Amino acid sequence: SPIIVWIRRDLRLSDHAALHAAGKSGRPVIPVFIRDHTVDDLGAAPKWRLGLGLAVYAEALAEKGSRLVLRAGPAREVLEALVDETGAGAVWWQRAYDPAAIERDTAVKSALKDRDIDAQSFAGHLLFEPWTVETKQGGFYKVYSPFWRAVKDTEVPEPLPAPSTLAAPERWPEGDALEDWNLGAEMRRGAAVVEPYVQLGEATAQARLGAFTGGKIDAYKDGRNLVSEDGCSNLSENLSLGEISPAQCWHAGLRAMEAGKEGAETWVKELVWREFAYHLLWHTPHLPESNWREEWDAFPWNEDERRREVIAWKHGRTGIPFVDAAQREMYVTGRMHNRARMIVASYLTKHLMCHWKIGMKWFEDCLIDWDPASNSLGWQWTAGSGPDAAPYFRVFNPITQREKFDPDCAYVNRWIAEGQSNPPKSALSYFDAIPESWGMTPDDDYPEPVVSPDEGRKAALSAYENRDF
Ligand code: FAD
Repeated sequence: SPIIVWIRRDLRLSDHAALHAAGKSGRPVIPVFIRDHTVDDLGAAPKWRLGLGLAVYAEALAEKGSRLVLRAGPAREVLEALVDETGAGAVWWQRAYDPAAIERDTAVKSALKDRDIDAQSFAGHLLFEPWTVETKQGGFYKVYSPFWRAVKDTEVPEPLPAPSTLAAPERWPEGDALEDWNLGAEMRRGAAVVEPYVQLGEATAQARLGAFTGGKIDAYKDGRNLVSEDGCSNLSENLSLGEISPAQCWHAGLRAMEAGKEGAETWVKELVWREFAYHLLWHTPHLPESNWREEWDAFPWNEDERRREVIAWKHGRTGIPFVDAAQREMYVTGRMHNRARMIVASYLTKHLMCHWKIGMKWFEDCLIDWDPASNSLGWQWTAGSGPDAAPYFRVFNPITQREKFDPDCAYVNRWIAEGQSNPPKSALSYFDAIPESWGMTPDDDYPEPVVSPDEGRKAALSAYENRDF
């Protein structure tokens, strides 16, 4: 009988344990993607990017003589209906680790098992599944460095090849047309502006990995901090949808280390931050919902999203060039440099004393590399409320950070048009992307700071010193 392979955030053929096993079985394989509530709940940019990724993935499957069947509805109902229609005896998938997916998958597994369907999940989205890494006392890790030391010498299995064949069923079940899902509907900003920055699909991701580990990884240690330079791998976009696997990245990183590339270990350590984020999310699923350290509930976070300062922050017109450049970079490219993410998050949660959830949600709507674990950890880490967090009194100064990491203002000038006599295309493209209702034009005067770095810092530190905990 056929095997249904339920595809989720794993849009690849290689190093895909469920597809690999299904291919090897010689039984007919029916790959299916379900538009359920976890898809409908995505922010505008990640949902749009998912649609682009699905189109490329469907083509890759077609080249193997297979198909991607698209269905919409609650996953359990869709899968049970497909089992009935196709006579499938098995439903296999790769595990996910965020709370919404875990709840759904647990229910699906038990419903299928009740019907004697072979419901199996496989590993693949992570290098180290969260329950496999334990402290000596038997608990989970709350600090990154000991987590890194615990995993760094682990033998990670070599990535699996793509299945050589995927047998087609006698009759394909019907599916929806991807265009009808219109996953880009909420992407109000001109998708045409963002599209040139997107790099889609497994083959592209592999090429990206090869180019990076054969080149820029050497200088990554310092290069990763220079915001105007393309010194990072940019693979988060592909990792987020599983267009590449972490094991493929890990092994490429190790090979670069063996080849004596200086920055390779630092890069592999960054891959492990992604693992650490999932480790924490799995063990403490409230990470995206509430302050990880409960005492922070007593902090006077400002939670009013309509405040002038918050709107200025979202629109990239706080009057702090580093912050504004970063927000505009995200709006135009769907991505933001890691250092810039820390700066804008610090400015929102410290200088403006806004609740980190406001920023987390904005990122969730704008990032094409949105990831439930890394985004919530990144926000709670910067805000100071999270595990292994930067202490709240460590307030990034956006002026000195700019001097250090964008010394010639190349980044700021790339993204901020106002005040430049001949602004570059990138800075102007922001105005093609934003809605008219934001009321911004490139000819405006660049605004004065909504909150100056000094005043904001003082207010944040004073609130911190007078807190109730
Ligand atoms: P590289 O520097 O090439 O690193 C390789 C890979 O390691 C990345 O692709 C990523 O998977 C992982 N990685 C690197 N840094 C981190 C980190 N700090 N935490 C977790 N994983 C990391 N990353 C996301 O993928 N999605 C998010 O939604 C996200 N939101 C963030 C929000 C905030 C406030 C902060 C401070 C960080 C956030 N990050 C997020 C982490 C980090 O900024 C990005 O992973 C990184 O910028 C991606 O660029 P890259 O692929 O070129 O990374």
